[in-house]
Amino acid sequence: MKFACISIDYDEINDYRKIHDISELKDSLSITRDSSKGIESLIRNAKVPITAFLTGASYRPFFEDFMDKVKDGLAEVANHSYSHDYALTRSDPVYIEAQIRSLHDLIAEYGVIMKGFRSPGWHLNAEIAQVLQAVGYSYTSCFNPSRLYYAMKYIWIKLSKITGKTPASVIHPIDTLRTPTLPYFPDPQKPHICSDLQQTLLEIPISVSLIPPFVPFTGYFIFKLKNPKFILPRHEHPAIFNLHALDFVHENSPSGRFLKSKEGVLQTPLSIRLNVLENIIKNLKNKGYQFVTMETLRNNLNSHSA
Ligand SMILES: [Zn+2]
Repeated sequence: MKFACISIDYDEINDYRKIHDISELKDSLSITRDSSKGIESLIRNAKVPITAFLTGASYRPFFEDFMDKVKDGLAEVANHSYSHDYALTRSDPVYIEAQIRSLHDLIAEYGVIMKGFRSPGWHLNAEIAQVLQAVGYSYTSCFNPSRLYYAMKYIWIKLSKITGKTPASVIHPIDTLRTPTLPYFPDPQKPHICSDLQQTLLEIPISVSLIPPFVPFTGYFIFKLKNPKFILPRHEHPAIFNLHALDFVHENSPSGRFLKSKEGVLQTPLSIRLNVLENIIKNLKNKGYQFVTMETLRNNLNSHSA
């Protein structure tokens, strides 16, 4: 069986403050609220469940709605850390644990026990892996094995510095470039490599294309490529999409207008973005991929060699 997952990181407008140099809190604007119609329409039209990676800043009035979707089997809710700190994996263990546990406990109050974690900014270290094992998580999806993405980010950060800007993005540790592209059980001491022994925590990296090579299955790249035939993983890999709630924000909504000059993805109208995604999903379904939540995928991989 070939599996595919649509995961969506619910980074809120306040989570983007540092990278976009927004000085004040923007509580009146909400990416969660302004993306909800677009995400609804994808779930309904393409008939796919989603895995929603929430942060503590996610718009609370929508939590009940998420939990209804979980009950209906249309969504899984997973942990994207409380404060979405891009330097989380370079922080001290006490702070790391608080970032994971505080969101975990908040969501548990709604009757949902999260099983999956994605760190902000794509990285996994030994401290995070340790906390997740202790709290009972069964998978992470922390690595983006796209060499193309890191090369572009590195150039962008260097160029920003030359032009006198101070980019808030964090350059990734070099070990990120050595991570596997297929789901694997991370070594507890060095989670970027595969463990010799069977572990309980499975890392499910986001997918990269085979041709053209190393294009990550993320919003910006997908909407640039447009053609569904390029969005295919290597034949034995699951297709793991890492979209963002921002990818579903209408360009003329309040947060869409506010972020338009800062986020390239909003230059493409929402109707086109949804169309591109629906065509990609249709193409993968025609090729035998079954769309499931990441937790379902993880449970299926449990019975096979991952
Ligand atoms: Zn994020």
